[in-house]
Amino acid sequence: MKNFDTIIGQRAVREHLQNSLALGKISQAYMISGEKGMGKKLMATAFAKALLCEERSEGEKESCGSCHSCKQVESHNHPDLIYVTHDKPQLISVDEIRKQVVGDVLIRPYQSRYKVYIIDEAELMNEQAQNALLKTIEEPPEYAVILILTSNEQMMLQTVRSRCIKLSMTPLTKEEIKKILTGGNNISPVQAERVLSFSRGNPGRAKELVLSETFEKKRTLLIRILSGLADSSVYQWTDNIEDLSSDKKELASCFDLMEDWYRDVLLYKAGALKEQLIYQDAFAKVAQGADTYSYRQLQRNFEALTVAREQLKRQVRPQLILENLFTELRRTK
Ligand SMILES: [Zn+2]
Repeated sequence: MKNFDTIIGQRAVREHLQNSLALGKISQAYMISGEKGMGKKLMATAFAKALLCEERSEGEKESCGSCHSCKQVESHNHPDLIYVTHDKPQLISVDEIRKQVVGDVLIRPYQSRYKVYIIDEAELMNEQAQNALLKTIEEPPEYAVILILTSNEQMMLQTVRSRCIKLSMTPLTKEEIKKILTGGNNISPVQAERVLSFSRGNPGRAKELVLSETFEKKRTLLIRILSGLADSSVYQWTDNIEDLSSDKKELASCFDLMEDWYRDVLLYKAGALKEQLIYQDAFAKVAQGADTYSYRQLQRNFEALTVAREQLKRQVRPQLILENLFTELRRTK
């Protein structure tokens, strides 16, 4: 575990770090940015593990996974791997940076060639803390490697950013997320399918969603709305718009879920089996939709969703977007 080999997705970041290892060209400061849940810490740890591994020979791209050092990294117990900690949840103070990095870096590694610092949630460093850190990354001892992880690169001082090799984590494909969820997490492929659209390429978020009751509620609500749209009264319709537009941030994901729904309806209409559907748990309703909607109208539904997404980007009011969308989705022929 915690090897590059076990990381799914993020090929560009992985390859950059592994090439540095292969070439023996290790930079002393890296900034890995990406949303919370994207696996920045796992990536940083895999890199640290390879740097510290006792059995890795020059030019090798991966830790051995079994030496004393590798085991220490696995158990969070390596004296030359420092995870910077902080007392206040929303702040990494200048004292914490001075004590754990600036001062500590002057002490030579205990047992390895490198001494690796991982500063997670680095955006929580205030300006003073970042300035203190800057001194270290401007003139680090040759054994020091500083890994700065952040979900908000804009909060980092330009002076700090410009000293780092910058790597960005990118959204995973649905297949990759599915692989992560079903690999040893006790999550079934069917459970995984449900959250793929909503997770927006973020495996951490996907894991949370699988366990989240609010997500289940929203999904259930959408199934109810979509399966009833064709014969709903205007009043129900208004309530639905209220429910959905309350959280503007989630609206784009709702459109993804809707697209999955009509995709299922279309597939089933074209002869797909229940096992091929995402909404297997609402199979009867999907089948009903396949009877209700014409092929031509399903095509229009997809187009209406594309329009809705564009409107959302252009900051059109959510209520208005949904009214337009539902007007189209209510048609059956
Ligand atoms: Zn090793």
